[in-house]
Amino acid sequence: MAYRFAIDIGATRTMLALIDAERPEIVAHDRPETDTILTGWRSPGLALAGAVERFLEERRVMLSEVEGLGIGVPGTVDRSRGIVLECPNLHVLDHTALAPEAASELRIPVYIDNNTNLIAIGEHTAGIGRGVDDMVVVFVGSGVGSGLILRGALYEGADGGAAEIGHTVVVPNGLACTCGGHGCLEMYCSGKALTMVANTLFKPGELYAIGSRFAGARLLIEQASVGHEGARGALTEAFTYLGIGLVNVVNTLNPRLIVLGGGIVSAWPEGVEIATAVVMNHAMPLMRRNLQIKVSQLQNYAGVHGGAALVSSQGRL
Ligand SMILES: [Zn+2]
Repeated sequence: MAYRFAIDIGATRTMLALIDAERPEIVAHDRPETDTILTGWRSPGLALAGAVERFLEERRVMLSEVEGLGIGVPGTVDRSRGIVLECPNLHVLDHTALAPEAASELRIPVYIDNNTNLIAIGEHTAGIGRGVDDMVVVFVGSGVGSGLILRGALYEGADGGAAEIGHTVVVPNGLACTCGGHGCLEMYCSGKALTMVANTLFKPGELYAIGSRFAGARLLIEQASVGHEGARGALTEAFTYLGIGLVNVVNTLNPRLIVLGGGIVSAWPEGVEIATAVVMNHAMPLMRRNLQIKVSQLQNYAGVHGGAALVSSQGRL
């Protein structure tokens, strides 16, 4: 039996998955807290290698049965050298030789890429976008992550920074964003954005009762689901902004498919209808005629499918 191993590193949780080398099927997976994997090791590369070894040992799989390891990193990477450049939400990975260190420990090929690129590749190779050559993947979670598949291949732009749809401007002179810009989509439709809105709609006592990092966004969605007018209005506005962002992408790239996913999208499916209506009402007729907007079925598993595809392409997506 031959397998591929994939790791999708998130700021809070990390998905580890063993994937069949013949077909895109997850044989076993685990999603521990990122801290528990990285703490107590000399370097993140060794920590990940250790996590892979433990995972395989518990499932009685030999390392010799694994063709390689593909890692999704929540930041910018130097793919050819396997080095992490910068991770704004997980600084412990900054400037680490993640792939070379893990490879020398495990003695199998190790490849890394940006995690949203791998989500896009996962949707293209194993998800709802199988067989679609021109597609855009947008995941709305704490932020907005996106990836582009154009003419059947991942599109990364001249400097590897393409597809930052979350940082396209939807409001002139709008809210200041962490990227240094103003009025970015991510400041209006994301867990972060909805939490800011919730802080103006609800009393602190109501928010603290939930207690997670994006408690505000969760409370807002819960209240909208039971008919709270203010919450419904706020979510409608947020997903209208998402629709505007998508119109701009559609009119620029003419994709055949948009895949929407992420925690905020799955928590409030009505938002997909709102964003879709904006696109269908505002995108140019030629662009929307054959356009489909679908919700991801892979969701949290898209990234590890992308990691497996990274292994099968030997790092050349
Ligand atoms: Zn921005």
